[in-house]
Amino acid sequence: MTILADLTAGLSSGQIQMIDLTTPLTDQTPLLELPPEFGQTARFELEEISRYDDRGPAWYWNNFRTGEHTGTHFDAPNHWITGKDKADIGSVPIEAFVAPAVVIDVADQVAKDPNYLIERHHLTAFEDEHGPFPAGGWLLCRTGWSSRVTQAEMINNTETGPASPGMSPECARWIAEESPLQGIGVETVGTDAGAAHSFDPAFPCHSFLLGNGKFGLAQLMNLDRLPPTGTVVLASPLKIVGGSGSPVRVLAMVEG
Ligand code: MN
Repeated sequence: MTILADLTAGLSSGQIQMIDLTTPLTDQTPLLELPPEFGQTARFELEEISRYDDRGPAWYWNNFRTGEHTGTHFDAPNHWITGKDKADIGSVPIEAFVAPAVVIDVADQVAKDPNYLIERHHLTAFEDEHGPFPAGGWLLCRTGWSSRVTQAEMINNTETGPASPGMSPECARWIAEESPLQGIGVETVGTDAGAAHSFDPAFPCHSFLLGNGKFGLAQLMNLDRLPPTGTVVLASPLKIVGGSGSPVRVLAMVEG
């Protein structure tokens, strides 16, 4: 078995570089906000159990509380009603956790229009330039949004509601129903645009992708360090039995 030996040799020699795509998880990590009539996801919180003190003289440890969808996280198909009979986060096949990725870069467009949407024709143009999307791969959407580190910057509330980039319904439908991709990864707090409550269907990335048994990765960073093609993403969520998602450490391997 020389392929694994090649992998470890590539990592130790620096020919393969590891890039962390994970947002730091603290009590300040931005998170999704829903209208007040709905249940809300929890901020990440650490509760100290002991720290080399009379509660535990030789050891430091914490309990933590968090939403499944807080910070950098993995959306399982059963997160959405369209996928309610599909996989929970604990039963997503492990093969999905190591996957090729391509990166579409719309950061310049988003800088001019925070409501910018990736359309189907952008994907066609990407494939014309870089070749077909990889089977079982992730489409990572670089929007520049990860430079927004506060809750207010990330949600970007305006008179018409949250303004953040995403994908058109037709684009989401095509990825879900026709593409060989297993899911999308974004820099925003969720896979859908800030205005996606008003789309038809509402929240099309959630509705189409999760309904087709596909996945989402939210709140990624460092996508500017990835090439358009050739990345391998490691994203292995907690095995929460029956859960709808999980915070996840997302790592990218690129050839240096
Ligand atoms: Mn989510």
